[in-house]
Amino acid sequence: MNKNLIPTFTCSTIYNLDIDKVKKLGYQYILTDLDNTLTGPYEKNASQDVKDLISKFVNNGFNVIILSNNRQKRVSNFVKPLNVPFLYQVKKPKTHKLQKYLNENNIDTKKCLIIGDQIMTDILMANRLNIDSVLVNRLTKIDQVITIIPRFLDRYFRRKLKKKKLLKEF
Ligand SMILES: [Mg+2]
Repeated sequence: MNKNLIPTFTCSTIYNLDIDKVKKLGYQYILTDLDNTLTGPYEKNASQDVKDLISKFVNNGFNVIILSNNRQKRVSNFVKPLNVPFLYQVKKPKTHKLQKYLNENNIDTKKCLIIGDQIMTDILMANRLNIDSVLVNRLTKIDQVITIIPRFLDRYFRRKLKKKKLLKEF
């Protein structure tokens, strides 16, 4: 199995992530996917739950960055009230957009933790950049059309990872 498809950790959802453990492991940057990680793909506005989660991270001293393959309008409208930086059309699993951002902001990849619901985009990009990752379950059963094929592969690889006992609970 391709090593780049193996997440560092798994967790049910980003909402259940043990924040004390994130801190203890030395991460300072939480780089999270948007659709089906923080919210459903068709939720236009950030709910109170999303706002509370982001505030919790920020109040605990983390830098939160939202990384999405979605369009600028969708991402910027959603993230605006959250007051955190974001990158749109990241083209995950391609690495150049995030790499550029990390370089420009002098961010040490060892202090980053990428969180996402898709092996084929979030986890593959994280591994290509040598960044630790947490694979979460998707929040809703709703996908955008563009996600249908990666989701099919995602299910296949999740089964394989589970069978080979390669998934490590955060
Ligand atoms: Mg996603």
